[in-house]
Amino acid sequence: MPSHVLARKWRPQSFIEVIGQPAIVQALTHALESGRLHHAYLFSGTRGIGKTSLARLLAKCLSCEQGPTVTPCGHCNPCLAIAQGNYLDLLEIDAASRTKVEDTRELLESVQYPPIMGRYKIILIDEVHMLSGHSFNALLKTLEEPPKHVIFLLATTEPEKLPNTVLSRCLHFTLKPLSSEALSHHFSHILQQENIVFEPNALALIAKSARGSVRDGLSLLERCIAFCDDNITVDKISELLGLADSHSVQLLLDALLQNDAVSGLTVIRQLAEKGVDFSEVLEAFMTLLHQLALQQALEKNNSAAMSPERIQLYYQIALMGRRDLALAPDQQMGFEMLYIRLLAFQPWQDDSDISPTVKKNF
Ligand SMILES: [Zn+2]
Repeated sequence: MPSHVLARKWRPQSFIEVIGQPAIVQALTHALESGRLHHAYLFSGTRGIGKTSLARLLAKCLSCEQGPTVTPCGHCNPCLAIAQGNYLDLLEIDAASRTKVEDTRELLESVQYPPIMGRYKIILIDEVHMLSGHSFNALLKTLEEPPKHVIFLLATTEPEKLPNTVLSRCLHFTLKPLSSEALSHHFSHILQQENIVFEPNALALIAKSARGSVRDGLSLLERCIAFCDDNITVDKISELLGLADSHSVQLLLDALLQNDAVSGLTVIRQLAEKGVDFSEVLEAFMTLLHQLALQQALEKNNSAAMSPERIQLYYQIALMGRRDLALAPDQQMGFEMLYIRLLAFQPWQDDSDISPTVKKNF
């Protein structure tokens, strides 16, 4: 599957399909339904989060022959042309590649003419903070006295770089990074539609790696589909992402509880041979401790093998280890030292905590 196919195919076509931005969707819906439209909207947020997708969707809502509407029909001329990227009344500019004053001037001059076929002339400027100072002035002039038929849709990853004079004339929406849960849910919807089999936990791993970005998540999902041969499993994804499989992490904890340094260090060596990222292993180890602690707290069910104090101690050592791992000469060495430290901090005072065989070893 060619890259970015999923991202294009699953770009939101209506507000219902926009994920993770309920407040913004609500505000835009209200504006469209009440007909109280602003002449300039600014969408900010980290890369790959869906700013330009949202701007294009708004352009469609404004331009649809059935509109302005919250639910563009998707098959009239403006809807189709916007989807194909060739609608004459939607002018798209990527300021990251077009920062020359003449370009902006040329664009702003064309703004004075009425739209060719639609209701509005819509100017979408991506990465607007990268416009030159002169271009900003040209933009500002138009923003100060915008012709009635013009709507600006601005997008940026760095709104703080925009002059206040521009900011104050825009309705500013900040897109939130997507939670792993929202991304997982989105991916599972897509895979079901695409008839691809998957394990839900595998999607959680992909979502976590995407770190809040829909675009990164979808391109990763595409790689995973290709790699997994249409059956997305935790093991395959762990292999692809260089993650420690959950089994290895459990073995590390088991060996620790048995005070079995040989087994623990063997697991670490095997992980190193697979080329895993040990900061991910540490994260997975901490997640496992967190799950155990939650389980104990909620079920008031203290396991004989591991007291709440012991979990807290391990968690604290692991937490400090995150910093040390980055400073160690290499990751494996750092992780081994951390593991040996965990082994060294067996809670002597808590006799009930240690099985007879383990006690003998002390
Ligand atoms: Zn339409």
